Amino acid sequence: MKPLILLVEDEEALLTVLRYNLEREGFEVMTATNGEEGLMLLDERRPDIMLLDWMLPLVSGIEICRQVRRKPETRDIPVIMLTARGEEGDKIRALNSGADDYITKPFSPSELIARVQAVLRRSRPALAAEALTYGDIVMDLAAHRVFRANKPVHLRPTEFRLLRFLIEHPGRVFSREQLLNAVWTHDTYIEPRTVDVHIRRLRKALNVGGKEDVIRTVRATGYSLESDGFAAAEAS
Ligand code: CA
Repeated sequence: MKPLILLVEDEEALLTVLRYNLEREGFEVMTATNGEEGLMLLDERRPDIMLLDWMLPLVSGIEICRQVRRKPETRDIPVIMLTARGEEGDKIRALNSGADDYITKPFSPSELIARVQAVLRRSRPALAAEALTYGDIVMDLAAHRVFRANKPVHLRPTEFRLLRFLIEHPGRVFSREQLLNAVWTHDTYIEPRTVDVHIRRLRKALNVGGKEDVIRTVRATGYSLESDGFAAAEAS
């Protein structure tokens, strides 16, 4: 079943872009353009996660968040606040009102999707297991599809399993033998050098169009999924 997102945002253009991108990632999205409508939708169906703009007509995102946290039946729904304001005090207010995360406009759809996946992973591990994300790379495990910056990446089965294993263990260095044991299913002996061939294919597929290489070759040791850009973004 697709995770259901309630998105409340009064900027119609942003709402349309976000809905499009979230649906493409395999989410079901219900939308409202003001706070009152958002609360009404919440009475009808229980979303798996809520994305709330802070400044909304009628009822603000912060107020919706407070109301959601007060009711036992909605208390556990994760909330990400979307806001044009970026001061530290705002962030604290958002988190104090019960939001799980906070993202400042402007943000890219892929940045938001990464946050949504991260929050779902923490709150609903079973739902998030359907998809894995690393930076702008998204793996849809159910559909066996991979996207980079929202564009499809075509991988053969071995490369798919290899990428999945690396995304499940970002930043860790694996030797060729470790990768062989983890990713290859055959009992027959396979040369460790085979791993290099598949890493090369995986890189080629992922880096189409001159995208940043996220696989680090660790000399005399093996490989690791690492990116300075993504690491910095996640730390902030
Ligand atoms: Ca607004």
